[in-house]
Amino acid sequence: MSARIAAALVFATLGSVGGVAFAQIAPRPQPVIVDVPVGNPPQAAPASRLIFMNRCPASVGCVIKPGVDDSRTNTSSIPDSQVTITGFKQSDAVWAKVMTCMRVTYAPFNIGVTDVDPGPGVPHYENIVGGRATELDSELAGAGGVAPFTCDEIPNAVSFTFDVYGADSDALCWTAAQETAHAFGLEHEYNAADPMTYLNGGPSMKRFQATDSPCGTFSEVPCRCTGASTQNSYRYIIDMFGPGAPTAPTVSIKSPSDGGKVQPKFIVRIAATDDVGIDRVELWIDGVNTGVVAKTPPYQVAAPESVGQGPHSVEVRAFDVQGTPAMASLEVDVGPPCTASKGCSGDDVCVMGVCLPGPDAPGGLGSFCNANTECLSNVCIGEEGGNKACVEPCRLDLEGACPEDFSCIPGGSGGVCWETGGGGCCETGSKPTGPALFALGVLGFLLRPRRRRSS
Ligand SMILES: [Zn+2]
Repeated sequence: MSARIAAALVFATLGSVGGVAFAQIAPRPQPVIVDVPVGNPPQAAPASRLIFMNRCPASVGCVIKPGVDDSRTNTSSIPDSQVTITGFKQSDAVWAKVMTCMRVTYAPFNIGVTDVDPGPGVPHYENIVGGRATELDSELAGAGGVAPFTCDEIPNAVSFTFDVYGADSDALCWTAAQETAHAFGLEHEYNAADPMTYLNGGPSMKRFQATDSPCGTFSEVPCRCTGASTQNSYRYIIDMFGPGAPTAPTVSIKSPSDGGKVQPKFIVRIAATDDVGIDRVELWIDGVNTGVVAKTPPYQVAAPESVGQGPHSVEVRAFDVQGTPAMASLEVDVGPPCTASKGCSGDDVCVMGVCLPGPDAPGGLGSFCNANTECLSNVCIGEEGGNKACVEPCRLDLEGACPEDFSCIPGGSGGVCWETGGGGCCETGSKPTGPALFALGVLGFLLRPRRRRSS
């Protein structure tokens, strides 16, 4: 066994994957790393900007010669003698998904992913996909992938993803991303969202995370390469290759509506997504940054009190983790605070003095829901087994906190506006106030809301 293989980090197969049981195969012990330089040397320009995903052909497999790692000559530091990795047995559709996943995974960086052999004249990193670990080296039994590793870039490195995950393209991609990045000098991270992880339980599609994550395979340990307590895989690859062609986030304002009448301290609800990740969403009023920022979804910001009555332009700026901006804007007219019965236009209703989308607006107050994400307020509640509705928070001690046909009843972290009238459910002739409101409110839960499903 060469020195390189002792330094190999191995991606063990994880339990039963893709319907094939690997449970009888013990996970490999903690990888042993030898001959580790202290600290990462400054990154020179990378040897290549291309990853070749080599789908081993079923007919002949992939022939690997022993020697110094060199993708151009199909030479690897891992086997002791010439070996053949048998062909990748999954379908074209699975392969296409693996390729898409790998391209998205590396999209933030200035490096390409191809499955067309660049040939002997073009430097490239290579991930060989197919066969079993034992075809490469008998000591690798149970591994899902393997890569040479030196805590630094290995030019033209050859890494491996084995055909042990069935049709699970996410698991194949996770492994291929991890093994290719090992050859850049990245080690295991204790972060289930990052492809450098061994942890189960995170999203099935891993992405290099722009966060400082603990190092470690089966527990948090100091990073072996740097001695630091954390590794930032995203930052590391950006530093090495530079950013890829940026893709802007997608952003839109869900409420208020363009040209709508709003009230002091009105709430702006924002939909923002990005292929890599949203860093923040900023609120700008009349071209000035208010300093109000939303960092986590559901993105929601309240206009500062200083935004007085009259017309204003509202702009939201979403930034992805690369700093790529995207914006959406609309005009609003700030009027006096609304009351339960008046001051709002269109489908809006008045909650705590502020006009918000009501039962006739998709995801508005009182509309049917099954999950929080269907509600603009991100709160969907109701009785067990009964109808659920989107609710807005209200103050129980404040008369007129909820619009007509709604009452402020105990719920959420205090009170919520719940539809109790207008549907013929209640025998009360007049609108309840005071203690009666409380009682009817509780009853309202049992009686179900007057439902309107958003279309
Ligand atoms: Zn690994």
